[in-house]
Amino acid sequence: MPHRLTLTLSPKEAADTAYYTAQAARRIGIAETDVALVRVVGRSIDARQRLPKVNLTLEVYADHEPAPAPVHFDYPSVCGRTEVIIVGSGPAGLFAALRLIELGYRPIILERGREVSPRKRDIARINRGQEIDPDSNYAFGEGGAGTFSDGKLFTRSKKRGDYRKALETLVFHGATPEILYEAHPHIGTDKLPRVIANIRRTILAAGGDIRFETRATGLSMRGGRLTGVRAGDTLYEGAAVVLATGHSARDIYEMLHREGVRLEAKPFAMGVRIEHPQALIDSIQYHSPARGEYLPAAAYSLVSQERGRGVYSFCMCPGGFIVPAMTDAGQSVVNGMSPSGRNSVFANSGLVTEVRLSDVEHLRAGWGELAGLRFQQEFEAEARRHGADGQVAPAQRVADFVAGRPSADLPRTSYIPGIVPSRLDRWMPPFIAEALRAGIATFGRKMRGFLTNEAIVVGVESRTSTPVRIPRSGETLMHPEVEGLFPAGEGAGYAGGIVSAALDGERIAEAVVRYLKR
Ligand SMILES: Cc1cc2nc3c(=O)[nH]c(=O)nc-3n(C[C@H](O)[C@H](O)[C@H](O)COP(=O)(O)OP(=O)(O)OC[C@H]3O[C@@H](n4cnc5c(N)ncnc54)[C@H](O)[C@@H]3O)c2cc1C
Repeated sequence: MPHRLTLTLSPKEAADTAYYTAQAARRIGIAETDVALVRVVGRSIDARQRLPKVNLTLEVYADHEPAPAPVHFDYPSVCGRTEVIIVGSGPAGLFAALRLIELGYRPIILERGREVSPRKRDIARINRGQEIDPDSNYAFGEGGAGTFSDGKLFTRSKKRGDYRKALETLVFHGATPEILYEAHPHIGTDKLPRVIANIRRTILAAGGDIRFETRATGLSMRGGRLTGVRAGDTLYEGAAVVLATGHSARDIYEMLHREGVRLEAKPFAMGVRIEHPQALIDSIQYHSPARGEYLPAAAYSLVSQERGRGVYSFCMCPGGFIVPAMTDAGQSVVNGMSPSGRNSVFANSGLVTEVRLSDVEHLRAGWGELAGLRFQQEFEAEARRHGADGQVAPAQRVADFVAGRPSADLPRTSYIPGIVPSRLDRWMPPFIAEALRAGIATFGRKMRGFLTNEAIVVGVESRTSTPVRIPRSGETLMHPEVEGLFPAGEGAGYAGGIVSAALDGERIAEAVVRYLKR
């Protein structure tokens, strides 16, 4: 057994392998020359004191101990095996496919968007303010919404074994092993596409199939059972269908609604992206004017209750960029991403508040269970009207937003298409604007310097979670009324984030296999 110990070090010491190896050897009472391997298995930063410290957990292998085996997975051939249709190649769809392969079933993935390489070009066009391909953008395409993201890998999942396996699967497919031990692991937008392409290669090598530029448009039922999916004139049949289309696939909700498949309205959240200079966030969090060369770009996580309504920061991207995450040109939708080095000079996060079913009650008569979806669409379209052509987004300085006054000009931003001054405090639904203004004022008291005109709010952050659930039975995880339909991931309303969608995809694959073996 290796020795395991935690050292509390300065950031510089924690970056110095020779230093912490010598410290570890001394602590466990062996000669440095007897140390065969030191593995970092945990790293977290404690910035509560004036001088931040790094808690480094190490496994020390002495000469006689066998070194740990590298992460490895075997995926058997599934050629000729029972086929399962998966719609969507986001984390939920890809992890469902990998689990089905492990269990001996052949996944056929239908994906409306393109492979990661051509998708990169589509995304570059959106950033240049050119056209938006409604099937290939920040939300749609290989790897789903998480491919061009920060790649944060948090989850509230209680099943740590499953979480560990998901991270190991990503490492096996090319993510850096640091994600296995960082307290707040992230992959980075520069590295994610390679990981996604490697997962594709695993699926194809095992005999699975992925059809790109294939948008599911309808369901195919026989004898009360779902037997497949239509994509235009083509029918794709399988023993079961996993629907993992994410929460931006409004056409899927509309199609299900039209075909009489029961959906359920659910509460969700909307707001803005807020962007500060990263140096400002560093100075607040690390209590020092500069973070120096050894500390990472600082993050924050904020939450408050404003007159009974929750306001919170979401998907914080230290050293990141605000990105145009809309799926058509009639919307202004922003989100955030960071490269692995988190080295941009900006820090952004979503700042959102709850939208309750009672807030969209006025739309229920016309839209039924899709009322929240409609409310979200109206919010995005209103933001577009206050922006400008070419994905230019409406923005306001933060102190002006809170005080309710216009911003005469705007500071520099990471948002490449550009921003224009706008009265977000005026045109947003009043309950959202009021909750956000009160929330930012509270956050300014918790983090001195957060409420500043050096920062901006950018409109709008509308796709934090789905406003519509595709229900499933607690026992079978199948839609209660549509035999053979397995809703999965964020679009179904059962996950939020990359890892939680991936874990849900695995869980759904296991449910499919139980159903097929019944
Ligand atoms: C810019 C950005 C940054 C993000 N950053 C993070 C982060 O750092 N950490 C984190 O945990 N989460 C992040 N998220 C959220 C995360 O990406 C999602 O929670 C996650 O991807 C959901 O996974 P999913 O598989 O359920 O759905 P999605 O990833 O949305 O995948 C759905 C897939 O289905 C496809 N599809 C949709 N409709 C059809 C159809 N009709 N036919 C065929 N295919 C279809 C889509 O093209 C897409 O590939 C970010 C999201 C964005 C947009």
